[in-house]
Amino acid sequence: MDMHDRPTGGEHSKLASLARLIREVDSAPDMETALRVVVERTRVLMAVDACSIYFTEHERRRHVVVATAGLAPTVVGQVQFGFGKGLIGRVAESALPINLEHVPEAPHQEFVRQSGSGPFHGFLGVPITHRGEVLGVLVVRQRVVRRFDDADTAILTTLAVQLGGAIAYARASGDLCGLCRPDGAERGWIEGLPGAPGIAMGTGVVVFSSTDLAAVPNRKPEDPRMEEQHLRQAVTRVQEEIRQLSADLDGTLSAADRALFDAYALILDSPEIVEATVARIHQENWAPGALRQTIEGYTRHFDAMEDPYLRERGADIRGLGNRILAHLRGGSGTTGDDPSSIILIGHQLNAIDLGLAPRDRVRGLISAEGSSLSHLSILARALGIPAVVGIGRIPLEHLDGQEVVVDGNRGWVYPRPNPTLRQEIERLIREEWGLESDLKTLRDLPAKTLDGMEVFLHTNAGLIADVPLMMAVGSAGIGLFRSELLFMRYDRFPSEQEQMKVYRQMLEAVAPLPVNLRTLDVGGDKPLPYLPLVERNPMLGWRGIRLTLDHPELFLTQLRAALRANVGLGNLRLLLPMVNGVAEVEETLTLIDQAHHQLLEEGIASSRPPVGLMIEVPSAVYQAEELARRVDFFSVGTNDLAQYLLAIDRGNLHVSQRLDPLHPAVLRALWHVVDASRQAGKPVAVCGEMAGDPAGALLLLGLGFRHLSVSAAVLPRVKWAIRSVDFSHMASLARQALTLEKPEAIRRLLEQTLKDAGLDRLGGAVSENGKTVREARAATGTPRYPGSTAKKEQRGHD
Ligand code: PEP
Ligand code: MG
Repeated sequence: MDMHDRPTGGEHSKLASLARLIREVDSAPDMETALRVVVERTRVLMAVDACSIYFTEHERRRHVVVATAGLAPTVVGQVQFGFGKGLIGRVAESALPINLEHVPEAPHQEFVRQSGSGPFHGFLGVPITHRGEVLGVLVVRQRVVRRFDDADTAILTTLAVQLGGAIAYARASGDLCGLCRPDGAERGWIEGLPGAPGIAMGTGVVVFSSTDLAAVPNRKPEDPRMEEQHLRQAVTRVQEEIRQLSADLDGTLSAADRALFDAYALILDSPEIVEATVARIHQENWAPGALRQTIEGYTRHFDAMEDPYLRERGADIRGLGNRILAHLRGGSGTTGDDPSSIILIGHQLNAIDLGLAPRDRVRGLISAEGSSLSHLSILARALGIPAVVGIGRIPLEHLDGQEVVVDGNRGWVYPRPNPTLRQEIERLIREEWGLESDLKTLRDLPAKTLDGMEVFLHTNAGLIADVPLMMAVGSAGIGLFRSELLFMRYDRFPSEQEQMKVYRQMLEAVAPLPVNLRTLDVGGDKPLPYLPLVERNPMLGWRGIRLTLDHPELFLTQLRAALRANVGLGNLRLLLPMVNGVAEVEETLTLIDQAHHQLLEEGIASSRPPVGLMIEVPSAVYQAEELARRVDFFSVGTNDLAQYLLAIDRGNLHVSQRLDPLHPAVLRALWHVVDASRQAGKPVAVCGEMAGDPAGALLLLGLGFRHLSVSAAVLPRVKWAIRSVDFSHMASLARQALTLEKPEAIRRLLEQTLKDAGLDRLGGAVSENGKTVREARAATGTPRYPGSTAKKEQRGHD
């Protein structure tokens, strides 16, 4: 369909059916059901004679049927095409749809022979892909000659996109083995992005909101009778609520609308909800999981209905389910009896989830959303917890209660590792410990290059709990104190006194070393629970200094708290986030002066601290000269700078893997900032995550940065890298990097530099069956989209 063509009546109803089909696939309890739903419904929707799904087995280099409607059921697991063979092979290899009105005989013979069916003429096949990798093919066939139109291709492609994430998960977890590999031998991994380095193994615990029934995992109940009792109580509470609401609205609502409340009460009384859920509890599911199963089963019928009024009733029932859930649970989805080694899993894990979990038992993190630069990753690195983020739309609930491996170095997750893999992981974890103990010996040694250039390594921190580790690794001070973490721990804005106490503790704990306190930097991917912002484009929205300048009462409170905490110590420095021009700096400096003078008038011996600017938006780069004249120092936030220079939302899983701080444009911006600050005679640091990557740190050193601020967990690695190279060599490396046109070329140059300096130990990753994953991939010849190699290279972990 062309953009200007409006869908016709028939297309409208097709699109409505497609939307319903997608909802059904989404809520399917398992992979087999999802595949069956797709083939059966698509066959009807597109009025075709057969619809089938092929799954690509990379190890066996073939595409094999895993579901069909219209062909004999016996073809499942039997009909198969080797790589490069037949139309299916062509769709997979070209990663493009193939639409044939009349299939020529030659490529078709093999299919007719294997399937035992008569010939088909019309053929439309589309690839099923996930993250640039072809996972299978979705195909419809017609016995007679048929020309499929653009709308047909669009519908099939839409379904294939839907299947991509689900198949990626099923392949990784082995859920497809029963369908296509009778020996069940294929175990895989789920590809995400490296969030925080390190490798961890533990039991998956899925965190879910107490109002999102769809995200509730299945779990074995501790005491089914107790679960049943909780369920009955929760249902009674919801019934009471409904009665109360109906009474409150009496007189306001029409009789018809009030009848709806009666209908809700009846639904809750019906055995379809309560008794069916109780039965599921006694079949070994806890109350929230059993409730989800019941509600899903119930609403599926409504979702499939053509009548929009009846479809709405499905949404009502889901709403009732969420209300019952809210009474069943409170707070996060973690339970008191969590396993001893937890891998915390969530769709959009955040600092609050982490705060609510038992920290001493959390070994790793997995988040569907996010990127290496998102706030969760930064926090995980600060806490030294391996993390994989941005793994995408896959059914994470299935990982609950399963053994899971997190490889934060590579960004991969291994569900249910087999014994060989487990052995390999245990070896790697031991190796990591060995590396850590080697790194400890560096604590009191300076971060000096072989030819004597000294670098000042500071740490990024946000909690007082970060101080012991930063001291243990020999940090030169806190280069970035993320004050928003303090704000996130409250359910309202903390008062001046409350803030003062925390800042004072921090300043005292590290004095005389400096603390660069960044003023409140919320918004974007850093939500405050008590300041919900609904913005169309949060990353370009009300965040950082914009928000605090609009609320001088909040800003002045924070500034006064910081200045009061500094009395008698003098190691405070203020750092301003997200500044985009001269006016914002001037406004802020006025507020700082105001707070300072207020305190002096109150008889408090305040002193005006040095004020620095974070360079993290492109406009600040190009006004660096003017800005440098107004402040005492710069600190470059490469996370946001890369995000805004490349126009890639750092938290958006669809694009975040393209966000590479080694992009030549970022390097040139960094070069410009160093140059401007040198001319102004103002010091410049980097506090973004690029500095915490040993290769990135060496490049920054070569570009002329002498101050780096990194998380305490990675500081020893960065120090080791610096102590292993010559500054003069890094300077020429940076000059060479500035001439390169692609991030991959820059990354290769850096990787080679690390290798030559004997630093390869700094990034070990899990290998499969003794082979490195790269070797395993090369051996299987995984088909990919043209261009996906570049994407992987850019991500730098394949
Ligand atoms: C940055 O943007 O690089 C930075 C250090 O700040 P944050 O990641 O907290 O936004
Ligand atoms: Mg930032």
